[in-house]
Amino acid sequence: MNTIYVKVKDAGDAAIGEAGRMIRSGGLVAFPTETVYGLGGNALDPASSKKIYEAKGRPSDNPLIVHIADTADLEQIAESVPPAAYVLAKKFWPGPLTMIFHKKPSVPYETTGGLDTVAVRFPSHPIAQALIKASGTFIAAPSANVSGRPSPTSGEHVLSDMDGRIDMIIDSGPCEIGLESTIIDMTEEIPVILRPGYVSEQMLRDAVGDVGRDPAVFDEDTTARPKAPGMRYRHYAPKGSLAIVSGDRDKVISYIRRQTEERPAGEGKRYGVITCTQDAGMYPLADFVADAGSLEDENEIASRLYDLLRRCDEEKIDVIFSEEFDTPRMGSAIMNRLIRAAGHNIIKL
Ligand code: AMP
Ligand code: MG
Repeated sequence: MNTIYVKVKDAGDAAIGEAGRMIRSGGLVAFPTETVYGLGGNALDPASSKKIYEAKGRPSDNPLIVHIADTADLEQIAESVPPAAYVLAKKFWPGPLTMIFHKKPSVPYETTGGLDTVAVRFPSHPIAQALIKASGTFIAAPSANVSGRPSPTSGEHVLSDMDGRIDMIIDSGPCEIGLESTIIDMTEEIPVILRPGYVSEQMLRDAVGDVGRDPAVFDEDTTARPKAPGMRYRHYAPKGSLAIVSGDRDKVISYIRRQTEERPAGEGKRYGVITCTQDAGMYPLADFVADAGSLEDENEIASRLYDLLRRCDEEKIDVIFSEEFDTPRMGSAIMNRLIRAAGHNIIKL
């Protein structure tokens, strides 16, 4: 398949109209959102959703998020929307929050991975909104990466994963947030966070009072089964082995530094370190130092994370050690993704 690749600066670009027509007629288009790039197809068309799973190599029990461009459209796809959902929509939509509802029959099971619930998000990115409107339907869109790889946060990331697999890629530069949306299940009496993201637990509590959290996702209990199917898979993974080193910061630095210094003779492996800017100078013998940004700027760390995991692949790194990024608001989202990228490989000091 020939993939059309276009760079688009703003929501008025004629390419968006063309992309919308492609989606309506059953094609797949990757597009920017404020979180990560999405791989979009017509959410109400079972054949389009099937194509999304094929293009990504995604397990078919892992449901897709349905994107809308107007809160008023919610009731076309969701049943019995509770009042709290409108409170959250008013506060966080358009934006990086996905809510789960009972689905209307109009949403095919191919889109919801066989579930009777549907995940809905209203993105704030103007190009995403323009595309949804231009399509005249709702857009099912998982992250536009090959299943298992880090989510794409730039047009180049999408091109390297999806070239030849989809109809079109809309590139509008790097994503502002860089981690996927917070997911909250609104079908429970007390809403439950299924995936941490930019919208933190505290922000949700401030808006609607009590909220729960899926223990399998937050407490990193590897025996519990996460309710969001996507949280069950190894995800976001670089090609090299990744270990997170956890504990007192000085000990973490000296442990990682030692690994880069005391390598087995003749091993011939390349070592990388994912670190904050403050510690980036501590690993002179690493083959690649991936500086995620200052501990004072957690938004920067979040937005760079997936690019750094991909850069480790480009640098052909075999062994990667990462510091912990236990920052105040985004820390749980950053660590949630990093822990999955590492396949739960955590060295506790
Ligand atoms: P992605 O779009 O790649 O960020 O993946 C979407 C995430 O939303 C995955 O983790 C899915 O398992 C989750 N998700 C989508 N729909 C539902 C649903 N109805 N119930 C629970 N989780 C969902
Ligand atoms: Mg994904």
